Amino acid sequence: MKCPRCQASVQSEQITCSACGFSATLLHSYLGNQWVRLERITDAAHCLRLEDTRRIEIILDDFERSFPQAFFAIYLGALPNNFNVAELGFWLLNQGAFNTHSVSRRNDFGMVLVVDPSAQTASITLGYAMENFFSPKNITRMMQTIGSHLRKGAFGMAIESSCIRAGEVLRKHARYMQWQPDAAVPADSVSDIGLQPLRGGHRSASRPMPENPTLRS
Ligand SMILES: [Zn+2]
Repeated sequence: MKCPRCQASVQSEQITCSACGFSATLLHSYLGNQWVRLERITDAAHCLRLEDTRRIEIILDDFERSFPQAFFAIYLGALPNNFNVAELGFWLLNQGAFNTHSVSRRNDFGMVLVVDPSAQTASITLGYAMENFFSPKNITRMMQTIGSHLRKGAFGMAIESSCIRAGEVLRKHARYMQWQPDAAVPADSVSDIGLQPLRGGHRSASRPMPENPTLRS
């Protein structure tokens, strides 16, 4: 994968980037290392209009139907000066528990688009498994398109275009490879289909938290 600070290639199990000294530990020192719930759309900057959100939801539904083990999440917010959009994307993929109403997904198959509307910066972070499908050229083109929309203040369009493009890239690969839906989800994970395993005959009344995806950082 790429270092979120200097874009140098780093080994997934490597903790510190040898090129710039970035480390996940450093990121944890100001963002913490707790699990957070990662929603499909987090608009902390309040810059999406209702119709934008609705259109994006439809595109995301289509994306998730086409690639049942993958997810695409979007975060919009003004970031503090001490970290950038790529670093937040990296942290979200490592600490975010992404869950939809139907299937819990592994972050290896995740993509996170982080947009800082006030700084007009954006980044796309790919989970380890996703990296195999996107060439640097794919990402550059996506970022160019996102940038052209952001300059016009068209946040919804920036998100829509990137999600649609991501689907096109994945579809191209799916033609040549057998995509195995839910291969990453353990078969005995009955909570994925809305059932709670009976352990000790007692069930809690509240809905269980999604299982934390195991991730290397
Ligand atoms: Zn680095």
